[in-house]
Parts: sequence; C-alpha cells; structure tokens
Amino acid sequence: MAGALAFSDYLDLVPKVELHLHIAGAVRASTLAELATANGLQLPRPAATLYQWKDFYGFLEVLRLGALALRHRADFARVGYECVEDMHRHGNARHVEIFFNPHYYTPNGATYPEIVDGLIEGIARGEAEFGVSALLISCIDRSVCLPSEALEMLGWMEKHKRAQVVGVGLDGAERAGPPLVWVEAWRQAGRAGYKRTAHVCEDNQTLFEGPPEHVVHCRDALGCERLDHGYNILANPDIVARAAREAMPFTVACWSSIVPNRGPRQQRIKKMFDAGLIVIPGTDDPTMFATTIGHGWRTLFAANGWHKAEARRLSLNGVEASWLPEDRKAKLRVEFAAALDALDARLDPADRTLDLAIERPRPMPG
Ligand SMILES: [Zn+2]
Repeated sequence: MAGALAFSDYLDLVPKVELHLHIAGAVRASTLAELATANGLQLPRPAATLYQWKDFYGFLEVLRLGALALRHRADFARVGYECVEDMHRHGNARHVEIFFNPHYYTPNGATYPEIVDGLIEGIARGEAEFGVSALLISCIDRSVCLPSEALEMLGWMEKHKRAQVVGVGLDGAERAGPPLVWVEAWRQAGRAGYKRTAHVCEDNQTLFEGPPEHVVHCRDALGCERLDHGYNILANPDIVARAAREAMPFTVACWSSIVPNRGPRQQRIKKMFDAGLIVIPGTDDPTMFATTIGHGWRTLFAANGWHKAEARRLSLNGVEASWLPEDRKAKLRVEFAAALDALDARLDPADRTLDLAIERPRPMPG
C-alpha cells in the first residue's frame, strides 16, 4: 500500500549491516547481572540500573564486572545469541560483524577456544532463528594489551582456526598505542589471511593523540581494509580526498560514550558523508550506552536531515564494506536493493518526522 509507512518505521525496516559492535558493550544488563551472580560476583547495583554509573570509575567498575562475569563457553554463547537477537529486533540488521577481546577474559580462566566456540554457537543459533548472519573479529585493546599480546592472540587464532573469525581489530584509546606500534602483528595477520581494521581518529582523542595521519598509517603500514570512527580525519582535506578516492570504509558510531560529544559527532559524520567518504553507522557499545541500531539510525537521520536517498546509500555501504565472501555479498546486495525498493514504494512521502525513543514498537518486515 503506497504512502502508508511513517519515516521512523521505514528507517527501522531499512535492511542494515552492523560493522562496529563490541560484544563487551552489547551484553544485556539483566544477562550480565545473572552471569555475574552465577559466577559468585557482587553487583555494584541492581540489574535494572547496572549501566547507570555515576562517574568514570563507575563505568570502569562495570567494564571489569563484564570481564569477570563471562567465563564459560555457555556464557559466550548466550551473549552472542542475544546480541544477534537485539540487532534483529531493534532495527533490522541482516548481517553483523562482532568485535571480541579475548584478553578481557583469559586472565579469569576462559580459554580462547571456549570464548570463540561459545560465540560461534550463539551467533549460529541467532542466524538460524532470525536469519541474521554474523562474523567475528578478534580484537586487541591497546589500553590493556602489549604488542606481544597481539602476537599471542594471532597464535591462538592460528592454533584454533575458525572460519567465522575473519579479521583482527584494534580498539581502546588511541593515545595508549598509536597505529605504528602494531605493525608487526597486523602484517602477520595479513600474511595469515585475516582482514584488518583499527579504531582511529576518534574524536575523544585530541588531534595530537589521534591525528589524520594515523589513517594513512593504518592503511599503508597496518594494511587495514576498513577503519573504525575516523572523525579527526576532517582536519586534513588531503587525507580526506585520498580516503574518498580509495573508497576507504569508516564504521562510525553516532552515540558517543561522551554525552556532550554526541551532537558534534553527528555533524562530523555528515561532513564525512558529504565529503564522499564511505560511512557505515554502527552502535559501538549498544546496551552499555543505551542505544540500538534502529535508534542510532533515527538519531543520525534526525540530526542531519537525511531521508530515503541517504538511507539507501548507507544501507548498501554496509554490504560493500562487510567482510562476507563475495558470493554472499552479491546475494545480500540483491536482497537489500529489493527490500529498499519495496520500502520506498510504501513510504509516506510527506512524513519526515523521526521518533527518537530508544525502545519503540517494532515494525516487522513484510
Ligand atoms: Zn568501538
């Protein structure tokens, strides 16, 4: 039926690819509370307010709880499954690539095989139930890991090779370890056939800590096929022009962990888009910072006055920038184009309002 779909519902139904999602920031508060209790840990607050910390130390306390609470294969299977379910229910993700940091969990007794096989079990169940495919990216948090630990992680990945683990990622504060520190590990990952990405030029880093030149280092020295964040690139028009020319994909996240930075970041994402960069909106740490993929898209579209043309471009950007095999990518491209055509035909052309509620009645595809 033509013209029946409100813009908020349309945007929630647009098929999406999520490429910037950390499993540590995507655990439901209720699940974290249950797993922590089952593993004999004390909660700092009741489950309902677990993610409502007062200050930075409160935030670190919850991060630490998350690292301590996930210990067994079944724990990882549960969070993997629930993450895929949330991506499906809150914004119609069709494919998800999930960052996980093995070094968060190994000090507490979980082994790399338990972590990875648990996650694979969870995402496989999610795919069977919701039709959402998922891949995994093994990550190094440079605030807590040394380059030698990146090599150690690669050793685990080689010893326990799994088709679902397609790449390596570098996260955590850029000031703690600029890109060139990781050259040896990232080159080794490339030789082993892994895709590579890195968090770079995040706008909570100064231009000294995360300068645009780091994009060049990630590309040329680390061999990254994709980059996460990238906002500080705007300070150097030459590097922006190169990134546009080379169609470098940037997985951006409009819901910054630093609340006053959310508005400015949404404008930076628009500037990156307008400069011809390939951007793909992601959620980063959705449950921890109270957002969903649908909410992130609605927020970004409301802030930037975007409509269906931008929705189509961002939706298809996700397919192109994903690390799916070429045949699966081709299939998804066709599916996405057909779904977008059908949604366009149903969209109420006069409606441009966007509901910015995080949780809202869920429109179902079809
Ligand atoms: Zn991130």
